[in-house]
Amino acid sequence: MPTLAELLTSKDITPPLSGQALDDLARVIARATGWEVYPSSVIAAGGIVYFLGRRKLDKRLCLVWEEAAAPAAAADFCGEQSPVQIGDLRLKLQAGYLDHQNAAALGKRIPFTAPRLIGVQAAIGTGDRLGLATPAHVRAVRGSGLRAVFAQQSIREMTRTGRTPEEVMDTATFGVFQEGWREGFGADADHLKTTDDIDACVAAGFTMFTIDPGDHVDGEADAADLAGLREKFHALPWQDLETAPGPLGRSFAEPVRLPDGSVVSFDEETLLRAAVKYGRALAHTAKMHRHLAAKTGRRPFELEMSVDETATPTSVAEHVFVARELRRLGVQWVSLAPRFVGEFEKGVDYIGDLGEFERSFAGHVAVAQHFGPYKISIHSGSDKFSIYPIAARLAGNLVHLKTAGTSYLEALRAIARVDPGLFREIMAFAVERYPEDRASYHVSADLAKVPSAKGLRDAELPGVLDQFDTREALHVTFGSVLTAKADGRPRFRDRLLRALAENEEVHYETVRAHLERHIRPFARA
Ligand code: ZN
Repeated sequence: MPTLAELLTSKDITPPLSGQALDDLARVIARATGWEVYPSSVIAAGGIVYFLGRRKLDKRLCLVWEEAAAPAAAADFCGEQSPVQIGDLRLKLQAGYLDHQNAAALGKRIPFTAPRLIGVQAAIGTGDRLGLATPAHVRAVRGSGLRAVFAQQSIREMTRTGRTPEEVMDTATFGVFQEGWREGFGADADHLKTTDDIDACVAAGFTMFTIDPGDHVDGEADAADLAGLREKFHALPWQDLETAPGPLGRSFAEPVRLPDGSVVSFDEETLLRAAVKYGRALAHTAKMHRHLAAKTGRRPFELEMSVDETATPTSVAEHVFVARELRRLGVQWVSLAPRFVGEFEKGVDYIGDLGEFERSFAGHVAVAQHFGPYKISIHSGSDKFSIYPIAARLAGNLVHLKTAGTSYLEALRAIARVDPGLFREIMAFAVERYPEDRASYHVSADLAKVPSAKGLRDAELPGVLDQFDTREALHVTFGSVLTAKADGRPRFRDRLLRALAENEEVHYETVRAHLERHIRPFARA
């Protein structure tokens, strides 16, 4: 274990510090600076010792360096400076806000705090709507061998929570720093529908872009008869698809043999249905891909295509069609989210036949092996405990699980533990809001089955998070809860965030314990 003086002269990033010696060092720094130190965050590079400091609820990115040395990297960061003396070391302390400038500077100087590509490796995305949960996510993922996507939020949810793409990135950066997570993480700009969405997320430094062409999927294709399909087929945007009806038809004349031995052949009806259903979505995805490639320039990125939020399941043949056509159109992608069979309602377990899910999932994996390999992405992946073992066994490394709502729900469970009064208020408000807020989400909660918060004892409150209808009602109302106003001021948001910050360990451990149940079935280590 190096001494503080040695850390202050280290040029390269120091190896992870741990044990009693680290705790002692953290105490020495805390005493001298007045900032309580998160020990896991302590790291040194380029003549600067960095740590995350805390005074009550005020968290800061702190830097200390030898006054005489004036290291160049310090100029990248902003914050208040003050002199500090430790033994005979005359030091400068700089304590800066957890803002975008400091996050960007940290990513530059301590590269593992900046997002990176995650590749075709089993991964979990852990969306964090409150901007406080990354440390819990790090703890859950640590040791699992899974790649992590700690920054992940859709434009829809950023709008609903009043957050910017920068904030989503920055909270992941500081969360990773706090926990000393050095294995890297991805940043997924989820469900992008327009080129403006892409621009905002490229500017914020995201590395993964999930293109959602769902609005261009023709939901009527499944029910249309052959005559109707022929008509719709000829009306496809052929110029954007860079082909014509004849050549497309001929290119699917040969059956496709998949690695699992199955054969997918396209008779006229199968091909027309696939083309009609997904043709416009493919054209849109290709356009978004071109825009993204132009915007990112030489910066590498990862792309996912998602059609999970559409009316009817994606058949294996349709998946073959989509993958082949995407490839022909020059799109490169690391993962694809089909619309699976069964119901993926928000924040609750899979609803449907597990045997049917297994058969169709196996087919999707075979397509991904054949045309990739790329990953099958499971959206609305929170709390789908019954399908995890199936997906993990069939997909191996070719799986990406996306979660988000479950971390918000578990934060509410922490609130139920530490502030029952606030939880009761939020629960009553969620019941009021649910009929309207459910509109854009896939849920089926029956409010008649949600218990009245008033009738429950404090000790019973955390348990209502396990009740199906309550869980869904609380899940889809997060935006209303976080943006509700009373007398022109936030009605819940500030109290909610404050209670979680004051009870940080309760929050982290509640989220970690629940998220681990998602991760364990997929663990690669
Ligand atoms: Zn989705």
